[in-house]
Amino acid sequence: MSDIPYKLVRSRRKTLALTIDSSAQLVVRSPMRLSEDIIREFIRKKAHWIAAKQRQINDFASKQSPLVLADGENIMYCGNSYAVSRGGVSEVVVEDRFIKIPESMTIKDFANWLRKQCKIIVCQRLNYYANFMGEKYVSVRFSGARSRWGSCGARNTLNFAWRLVMCPQFVIDYVIVHELSHIAHKDHSARFWGRVSTVMPDYKQAQDWLRLNRRLMDII
Ligand SMILES: [Zn+2]
Repeated sequence: MSDIPYKLVRSRRKTLALTIDSSAQLVVRSPMRLSEDIIREFIRKKAHWIAAKQRQINDFASKQSPLVLADGENIMYCGNSYAVSRGGVSEVVVEDRFIKIPESMTIKDFANWLRKQCKIIVCQRLNYYANFMGEKYVSVRFSGARSRWGSCGARNTLNFAWRLVMCPQFVIDYVIVHELSHIAHKDHSARFWGRVSTVMPDYKQAQDWLRLNRRLMDII
């Protein structure tokens, strides 16, 4: 049997643990000094389990087809699912359960529209929370990042992924509160999380939502 490729993470833990990450890669968490021979042997014994998990993740990923702007397709916007309806409008209209999109609009145009909406929604919430928390940021930008929802630079410049506009309000709020909390704490220390939870006690629900809906990063 050929060896299964893996990423090794050593730490001060006592046992070996295998996980499969969202890109279907095998991650091995190991105690500091355990030999790679023992690790490989362990992996071989778990080969069945690893293959099944990797298949599961790859199947899931292949079902997440990219968005097509055609009648009957669905898109998430502000946490709600809307059916796409093409034509009959000269600009994007969100109405009832429909998102009406002009016939001539390309995916790129639509992405630009989403980015614009994101800017409006995030800036408004950002002002609210910055005031509420008494934090001052230097600037705010919107990026096409697919790996993170937000970031706070060393000089308190904030960045948000425009794809955030697909998430529900409480999730957008969480990302904003998270980045604003980095102005005072540039790490993910207990004090940082303390700050986040003072402003948003149930922030873990938002984290769960983001974990479950990570695919939104790749859909458009
Ligand atoms: Zn952070």
